Order: sequence, then structure tokens, then C-alpha cells
Amino acid sequence: MITVNENFLKLQAGYLFPEIGKRRRAFQQAHPDAKIISMGIGDVTQPIAPAVIEAMHKAVDEMGKKETFHGYDDGGIGYAFLREAITKNDFRSRGVSIDIDEIFVSDGAKSDTANIQELFGLDNIIAVADPVYPVYVDTNVMAGRTGAVAGQGTYLKIVYMPATADNNFVPELPKEKADMIYLCFPNNPTGAVATKEQLKKWVDYAKENKAVILFDAAYEAYISDSQIPHSIYEIEGAKEVAIEFRSFSKTAGFTGLRCAFTVVPKELRAFTRAGQSVALNPLWNRRLCTKFNGVSYVTQSAAAAVYADEGKKQIRKTIDIYMNNAKVIRESLTTLGYKVYGGINAPYIWVKTPEGVGSWQFFDLLLNKAHVVTTPGAGFGPAGEGYVRLTAFGNPPDVVEALGRIKAISK
Ligand code: PLP
Repeated sequence: MITVNENFLKLQAGYLFPEIGKRRRAFQQAHPDAKIISMGIGDVTQPIAPAVIEAMHKAVDEMGKKETFHGYDDGGIGYAFLREAITKNDFRSRGVSIDIDEIFVSDGAKSDTANIQELFGLDNIIAVADPVYPVYVDTNVMAGRTGAVAGQGTYLKIVYMPATADNNFVPELPKEKADMIYLCFPNNPTGAVATKEQLKKWVDYAKENKAVILFDAAYEAYISDSQIPHSIYEIEGAKEVAIEFRSFSKTAGFTGLRCAFTVVPKELRAFTRAGQSVALNPLWNRRLCTKFNGVSYVTQSAAAAVYADEGKKQIRKTIDIYMNNAKVIRESLTTLGYKVYGGINAPYIWVKTPEGVGSWQFFDLLLNKAHVVTTPGAGFGPAGEGYVRLTAFGNPPDVVEALGRIKAISK
């Protein structure tokens, strides 16, 4: 008899976005003429930069000629031309030295943050912020690392670290012992960022506890404050304890193209049960060579164009469009009396719901009265109750219209 991985059965029913989609469809069916504006799901809306498109056309033509054809890349970990551009532009420019063989190119930060756990034993305790990007939790549930369901969508063996207005949405160090610590800055969903001093505490904790930090920096391109670190490796000693995830999805509109990368420093080590230390860089390399044959040449050429002068200018313009949306959202909602967080160094705005109104209740109100789709904070964890998340990735005229509608119903 074939048996099923019963860990899947522990996943909480109705993953957030399908539930939002269900409510949206039900509303649209009942009101076919309503023009719904989505400020919910974190997908981008602006087209890919012309310099990136040009690089893809060129790469397609190269694939059609014997002399310039490209097959498998360097062992499925990324062509050297892209990994070199990454080390130079994302790290060396910030005083951080990362070798090209510490960089592993992939098809997405979602898959990398999920797949990386294969390197770690199943008895490790994971720690996540609450609220959290659900992928870190659900993929560990599938792997069997989280124990049974504990109510309110939580799991017995996970250490939850509340991110609240009181701590500026940067969690305190856990009191319990944690081995795999997921941090995401700039944060999805709260839009919070961590200072160097705050990250230093995490690095020190990881060193003291022989833990690893899984640092998701998918939104680093949105940081506007020059004091905020873009990489965890800007913190001294972080290369011994942290893996960093980056993505071209939100940086350069690659959500439909698919390209990202993960940094696994050579200094980083985990331990056997007997206490012997093992370098993780060769293990991740081995994992990719065994299970992944890399990202297409055309896509990696597109990603490399993000780092050329023209590409850099063009992607900056698009990020500016989104961050201007963020500013408009922040300012309009603040004027209407809402308490608003994030949206300065991140494309997410975390809005406190009115007194006594729950996340889903406020979601329904905005959908039914303003025809605006948001994301209920409770869907990201119990501490997200009492908030909704708005994204700044909309078309600017839609954002203005949505805010006008929210204003009209807030009177
Ligand atoms: N990490 C975070 C925090 C995200 O919010 C997202 C996408 O929404 C991802 C990773 C996924 O990125 P990718 O498109 O590279 O898979």
C-alpha cells in the first residue's frame, strides 16, 4: 500500500490567498459591474525594463547559433557571468566580500527558502516571526519539523516571535532554544526593517546557540534609508551563521520570468549529532547539482542586464513608481486617521484596523463597500490579527482610485 506523507494533512486548510480569491469571486459574481482593485497579492504590475528585454532577445538569438549556443550552466548553480555581476554589485559595492562560488542562482526565493531545509536535521527547532511569510512555516510542516497543530493556525514545535507595534515589528530574541531562525527584512507583511544593531543581536544569538539564520532579503531593493543594511553579511561574523536569499522578482519584475539566488558562505557550518562541524556550502552545491539543472541561459542573461548601467537606471524608475504608491497610501490613510506602518523601506503597508474590527471583517468591509482587495493580517499569524496588508505594486491610477473609495467609505 502506498502511504501518503501525512505531514501534508497538518497544513491549515484554506491557504490565505485561495480564501481571498474565493471571497473576491463571490463578490464579483454578486456584483458583476463592480470594478475591483487589488491591493492584496504581492505581484508586480509594471513591465520588465527595456534593457532586460533587449538582453533576452540577444540571448535567444545566441541560442540559435552554434558558436554562441549555451547548454547546462556551471553545474546548475548559475553562469559565472551572472554570479560575478551579483558579487560585484550586490556585495562588493557594500564592502562585503562574497566569492562567486558562494552564490547559487535559482528559479525563485520561494523555492530556495523551502528547499534549503533539506540541509538540516528534522529535529531542529525553527523560529519564525509572527506574522510571517507563510512559506517558511508550511514547507517545514510538509517536512515534518513542526509537530501537531496547536490552534489559531500555529504548531506545537515552532517558536513564534511576535512582531508587534511595541517592538516596531522587529521581534525580540527567542527565550526558547531555536536552531533555524527565519528572518525577513525588509519584511513581508509588515514592511519593517532591522538596523545593524538589531541584526547583530541575531548574529550573536546564532553564534552562541550554534544556530543558523535564514535571511530573506527579497525586498532589499526597496530600502531607502542609508543606515539600514541590505545584506545580513554587512554584520560582522554573519558569514559564519547566515544564509541569505535574494530575488529578481520584486527588484526587477521577474515574478513571471523566475530568477533568484542564495548565498551560502564557505565559513557557515552545521553539526552532526556527534558534534562534528560540517560546511554547508558544498552540501548545497551537491544538492543543486543532484536535483536542479539551473535557470535558462535566456533568463540568466536577463538577470545580468539588471546590473548593467541602463538596466540599473530603468529598474530604479520602476521601484520609484511603487515607492511613490507606498507614499500615497501611507499619507492618504494617515490623513483618514488610520495607524499605518511600513511603506518607507518596503513595498508593504501594514494598516491597523479600526478599534474592535478584526482583520477579515475589515477585509470584507473594504471589499464590499470600496471594492478594494487587501490581505487580512490574521492570515500571516495570530499577531497579524487587527491589521491588513496593502501592497504598493498596483498601477498608480488604480492606487489613487482605491484610496478615493476608501476615503468615501471612511466618512
Ligand atoms: N520571500 C518573500 C518574503 C516574498 O514575499 C516572496 C514573494 O512574494 C518571495 C520570497 C518569493 O520570491 P520569488 O518570486 O523569487 O520566488
